[in-house]
Amino acid sequence: MNQERPNEAHAKRIVEQVMAIQLDHADTHGGVDYLTPDGTVALEVTAVTDGDKDGARQALRKSVNKGAPAIALQGCWLVFTGEAQPRMKTFVQRVQPAIAELEHAGETDFFNQRAAIHVLEERELSHIYRPLLEAGVERASYVPHAPHVVDPDHIHQLHVLMGGGGSISGSDEALDRLIEALSEKHDNPKKLRESNAEQRHLFVWLNYDTAFNIARPLQHDEPSWAGGEWGVPSTEPQLDPAITHLWIVHQGSRRGWLWDGESWRELSDL
Ligand SMILES: [Zn+2]
Repeated sequence: MNQERPNEAHAKRIVEQVMAIQLDHADTHGGVDYLTPDGTVALEVTAVTDGDKDGARQALRKSVNKGAPAIALQGCWLVFTGEAQPRMKTFVQRVQPAIAELEHAGETDFFNQRAAIHVLEERELSHIYRPLLEAGVERASYVPHAPHVVDPDHIHQLHVLMGGGGSISGSDEALDRLIEALSEKHDNPKKLRESNAEQRHLFVWLNYDTAFNIARPLQHDEPSWAGGEWGVPSTEPQLDPAITHLWIVHQGSRRGWLWDGESWRELSDL
């Protein structure tokens, strides 16, 4: 008897809401995760992450989980760093105090190249920029909140995005990488095929452990320096025929894309 996992239940609620259907947990003995009562729609839930393969990423996750609760921020920040930084285990604890000082100085972004020149010239923000440069921060940007984040218990934090795996040109390329990663998961199409449902939905969670070149378009609200390359893909996904619908949703940003077999649509505030 397989238990329903929180990620599965969350995906199910999203699909039910967007499609206006009802789904029942069906994976009690290894089949597809969910089915409509009449059996015409099947849903399988999966995740694409590579966190376990990567020591630096694991160390960063520990640092993010621990946070820096003593250093309050006035807002959330998006922080980009390269892949192979030493001491990732204490990254947030070293970076957050400097970000708090940046806020205090009235700054809303940080660029490492500009900051390096500033430090060489020994200008007024050098003492704040130096620890950020030493920690390997490439860019940091204050992120205005989406309207749904008005929870009084919300604590502002750093959203750390780690680079690596090369850069990508836009959403189409990110989609290609995702399809590549999915092609190694043979179980998903197999379960969907065996469900014999007419509509066979694959729901893919992305999170902060997902490779940067896959998750980037959906990772956060589009940062100000992005050039508009991160909207819905423009190409048809090359899917296993067992998959008729593809959902790609990021757990952090609650944004996603839905392919319904004919076109893409954007999903937000999920
Ligand atoms: Zn916040």
